[in-house]
Amino acid sequence: MFSQYSKTLLVKSSKLSSPKLFTIARPLSTSQVLRARSKDATIPNTSIKVFREITALRQWRHKQMLDYRSVGLVPTMGALHEGHLSLIRMAAKENSSVVVSIYVNPTQFGVHEDLDSYPKTWEKDAEMLRNLDRELAADGGNLGKIAAIFAPTTNEMYPSGRPSQEINGKGSFITITPVGEVLEGASRPTFFRGVATVCMKLFNIVTPEKVYFGQKDVQQTVVIKRMVKDFCMDTQVVVGETRREPDGLALSSRNVYLGTRRRSVATVLSKVLRTAETAYVRGKRSRDELLGPANELARLLMMEQQQLKPEERVQFEMDYVSLADPETMQEVDEVDDTKGGILSGAVKMLPVESPQSGEDLGLANGPPVRLIDNIILKPVTK
Ligand code: AMP
Repeated sequence: MFSQYSKTLLVKSSKLSSPKLFTIARPLSTSQVLRARSKDATIPNTSIKVFREITALRQWRHKQMLDYRSVGLVPTMGALHEGHLSLIRMAAKENSSVVVSIYVNPTQFGVHEDLDSYPKTWEKDAEMLRNLDRELAADGGNLGKIAAIFAPTTNEMYPSGRPSQEINGKGSFITITPVGEVLEGASRPTFFRGVATVCMKLFNIVTPEKVYFGQKDVQQTVVIKRMVKDFCMDTQVVVGETRREPDGLALSSRNVYLGTRRRSVATVLSKVLRTAETAYVRGKRSRDELLGPANELARLLMMEQQQLKPEERVQFEMDYVSLADPETMQEVDEVDDTKGGILSGAVKMLPVESPQSGEDLGLANGPPVRLIDNIILKPVTK
């Protein structure tokens, strides 16, 4: 990621004779910043521009408009995986120029959350984007291509200084309530304030015709849609389906924290949600009928782990399992067939006990990992 937390930066400038990898120690040196600021910076061996400054990006954006080129934006925090790539593929089908933003936004992390250890994998991200760029070029079905990466510094994104991450901290914030206060918002009180604030900035900077978000973070999609509607913003929010590992675990940049032992049990949440979905498909509609069997499975899986030896088991805590209205995210007692519903949940995978010598504990030595997932219960038309 290109924030002051950046470790590496891979850029090619037309002023340089060959592509170059700069290893950036924090803080960035002046010459490195200047090179990365060059408006000719690209990901090596591609035409994908790398912008770190709003002014340069705006000049480029203006040119897109003059050339009648539509712009789609895919906001990310980097550490790219297939979920992110699937959104970029969608955007390339529907827009002439796709902008991918890569920015680890500090204000959406709580004071005690994993901002400092959040994975930053710029070189790998650049490689994935280079490969995807080639794939998109070879596939005749696309309207456009990955045109630019927007990887701003925190000084660019927060020109009056970075606001506090404290709940009562002062600053220029966007808050979307009550939808941003429940579920993830209840567990992480500053999260949606940070997300809505950074997305408002990104939308103002890039002025995209369309923005792309993953269903993986379903409450985020509801918050962003509400923000776009209530602030009369001229962009269309498109939601791409959740990409998963073959065993059902939703892809997430945070999965690298798990390590081998916890990874083998991390499907607990998707299994619990699937149980509720099965009941819905079988015609059940009440909260008890849907969440009862789901919570029972969670209890059984937890007991199964507790019966294992400490050096083998994985302890986890279910944070919540929710059945909510798809527009408000408020809990419902009964699913309305005409609206459908959203099943969602969060689980905290606790650090493994009695780690064995040489055991893969995951990035940052296996701190607690909070995983989220959801399933959309589609409306039933009779
Ligand atoms: P992040 O980098 O985690 O902030 O995610 C950037 C975007 O990718 C968000 O819109 C996420 O919802 C989306 N995303 C993350 N994981 C997945 C996934 N497994 N499938 C689809 N989209 C995803």
